[in-house]
Amino acid sequence: MSIRKTTIIGSGPAGWTAALYAARATLNPLVFEGSSPNLPGGQLMITSDVENYPGFPKGILGPELMQLFKEQAVRFGAEARTENIVKLDLSQRPFKLTSENGEVTESQTVILAMGANAKLLGIKNEKELMARGAGVSACATCDGAFYRNQDVAVVGGGDTAMEEAQFLTRFATSVTLIHRRNEFRASRIMIDRAEQNPKIKFVLEEEVQELLITNDALSGLKLKNQSLEVQGLFVAIGHQPNTNILKGQIALESTGYLKTLGKSSKTEVEGLFACGDIQDSVYRQAVTAAGSGCEAAMDSERYLETLGS
Ligand code: NDP
Repeated sequence: MSIRKTTIIGSGPAGWTAALYAARATLNPLVFEGSSPNLPGGQLMITSDVENYPGFPKGILGPELMQLFKEQAVRFGAEARTENIVKLDLSQRPFKLTSENGEVTESQTVILAMGANAKLLGIKNEKELMARGAGVSACATCDGAFYRNQDVAVVGGGDTAMEEAQFLTRFATSVTLIHRRNEFRASRIMIDRAEQNPKIKFVLEEEVQELLITNDALSGLKLKNQSLEVQGLFVAIGHQPNTNILKGQIALESTGYLKTLGKSSKTEVEGLFACGDIQDSVYRQAVTAAGSGCEAAMDSERYLETLGS
């Protein structure tokens, strides 16, 4: 079995950008792009219009953008496998990666780009409306502008929910923040700002039970004790970084995110790099993920040079 120089796990904007840079640096990267339940292409595969990725002035569909990312990396020699990695052994060099069909890949460096998933409410039609851009979203920065002069709701009681609600008031006529308790997890300053915003109203001790649909798009919410007419629902109940295969092998932040060192993609394990949402709980944008993918490939290349590879 030949030993790979660089293997990339994950195929969102971070993974494919790392693959592009690694391929152009002649590292012949192998990309495990995932398979069900991990979507090859990552979170953009469940969004419709992407209007904030530079270079696409008319916007582009998320799945189309990811196809272009892949084509560009493959053009320079990146190799894709539509499989999940089920085991990553960091205790030996080269690293050993076991895919779901039992095949083992050995690699001198590994770039982790498995991303994070927005937690969803798990109610009927939620994922489908989100995929069609028909009223449900987990990212106000990405989709807020589609709800100009409409009524929207945000669900969640943390800083993200406060921030998203605040941001959405730039576009929406009204923003209703729905939280399941009567106390917020968010910081005082974020709550104060939201409370001072006349466009935001609060509905507490409530839960979204059903999404009401008219003409194939969201038209309202059935809560436990009332109904609300809204055209948009922003789910802001946290994110889950995909770190399962790392558990017990490397320290994670208290939030579950992977730690990278200083201004780099390096992790505490030599030869192991991370990029994109798996290590970013703050920005979580396609463009920032892509930028960090570039950094991971460059850090990986420099590390290989120190090994004389
Ligand atoms: P958090 O985990 O802090 O909050 C999640 C919120 O969603 C909680 O209020 C929780 O309710 C609620 N929730 C969870 N599951 C459900 C569910 N199934 N149904 C209804 N409600 C649910 O996540 P955030 O994304 O808000 O924040 C993550 C981290 O990022 C935090 O550390 C935060 O401080 C930080 N952050 C900082 C920002 C800033 O400083 N500008 C901006 C955004 C995030 P409950 O409280 O009842 O558990």
